[in-house]
Amino acid sequence: MFDKVLDRLSTEIALKIIEMTAVKVEAGLSGRGAAILANAVAGAAPKARVGRPPGSKNAAKPAAVAKAPKFKRDMSCRVAGCKNRSKGPGFRYMCEEHMKLPKGEQIKAGDAYKAKHAAKA
Ligand SMILES: [Zn+2]
Repeated sequence: MFDKVLDRLSTEIALKIIEMTAVKVEAGLSGRGAAILANAVAGAAPKARVGRPPGSKNAAKPAAVAKAPKFKRDMSCRVAGCKNRSKGPGFRYMCEEHMKLPKGEQIKAGDAYKAKHAAKA
């Protein structure tokens, strides 16, 4: 008995939502209203929308601005012609192989690399 009342109530609520949405769509709401209507028909309630609705205060902000520009570290080995990935600044940007070089050679390779890349920029 009580179940039946609940059943009818929820059906009526669902119908009301569809009815209200249909009126809004007719009134001139564009894609967003249609999406809500589609959701209302599918699940009887509007679901979370994907993306931002056009005209919201955050819509004009491009996603790229939110991310801080990342400093791109050149991880290639500083020895000319070497294609290996270096071990990073703690190793004077030498790859595993060129770490075995004498310190003077490593610094020389680093300086040569710096001069070459500074000239480019
Ligand atoms: Zn190397």
